[in-house]
Amino acid sequence: MHPKQKQKLEQKKQAKETLMQLFQIAEQNFSKNKQKSDKCAKQIRKLQLKFKIKLPAEIKRRICKKCDKFLKPGENCKIRTKDGKLIIHCLECKNIFRMPYKPKKKTIKKQKVKD
Ligand SMILES: [Zn+2]
Repeated sequence: MHPKQKQKLEQKKQAKETLMQLFQIAEQNFSKNKQKSDKCAKQIRKLQLKFKIKLPAEIKRRICKKCDKFLKPGENCKIRTKDGKLIIHCLECKNIFRMPYKPKKKTIKKQKVKD
């Protein structure tokens, strides 16, 4: 493998780890320091875009696609399921976004390209 390519992969790996850590920090700080959580959410977004990282569903559904705020179900967002989809209602900016909800039987591979 080309050294540069290898370096890039290494960076991406690093970014993924950072991203997971940021998520943890955001989760832990939500009740005591919401601003910090939001900051983390923004950083996660940045990393995701920069390294084109596919976010795990559990993280994806916790960051509003519109306002980039960290979402906590029952606190500042509502999550419902409907027709095999998760409907996430951000109470921060009133945005509603949907995410495929993995059914147990078969996995529906239908994702928006521009995600
Ligand atoms: Zn929002």
